Amino acid sequence: MKKEGMLVIISGPSGAGKGTVVAELVKTEAFALSVSATTRKPRPGEMEGIHYYFYDREAFEAMQKKNQLLEWAEFCGNYYGTPRKYVENQMAEGKNVILEIEVQGALQIKELYPECVLVFLIPPNLEELGRRLTERGTEDKQTINRRIHRALEEMEFVSRYDYVVINETVQKATKDICAIVQAESMKSSRNPKIKEQFKGEIELC
Ligand code: 5GP
Repeated sequence: MKKEGMLVIISGPSGAGKGTVVAELVKTEAFALSVSATTRKPRPGEMEGIHYYFYDREAFEAMQKKNQLLEWAEFCGNYYGTPRKYVENQMAEGKNVILEIEVQGALQIKELYPECVLVFLIPPNLEELGRRLTERGTEDKQTINRRIHRALEEMEFVSRYDYVVINETVQKATKDICAIVQAESMKSSRNPKIKEQFKGEIELC
């Protein structure tokens, strides 16, 4: 029986290690990764279509108007959004799709798809978060401070999420998220036709 894929949302403060954990999850091939659109400038090493689709504000706003984004939000002065078509196609094919997005977008997705799974990834402590952002070396001091401030604001939303995962090591956090997805996929509410299928098989014998 073909099941529709699950939508798994990973949020968490900048520097929580979302990108690294998501990259590990995608390696397991159990997930398709949605590549977001953004008006942020590419960081060194970031590639069009792999890390993001990079747009100017005008082009991004045109996508919003044409309803081509499943959700979008403004984060620290830039727009970010999820292209609708890819997500809808992958889910229809039964693939689990991961979105790595911030809290406003995550809550928009929960409205659209109440059965989606919201996972909040946090670093072991705030010092660790500051250290990771500084070590990444891709942002200036003002941007780092802005992101730490935003991290504190985002923490207010933890209780709206289904799960909280502490990213002590990438390996452990990846394993935890896989366990969440596995358990979610076995929920009776996600398998509403199991009884009919079972009966059908018995009648065939
Ligand atoms: P960064 O600039 O560090 O790549 O991303 C900044 C924030 O935007 C992160 O919290 C990231 O998860 C979030 N983000 C990335 N893509 C999207 C998206 O498509 N929609 C929303 N709402 N947030 C996104």
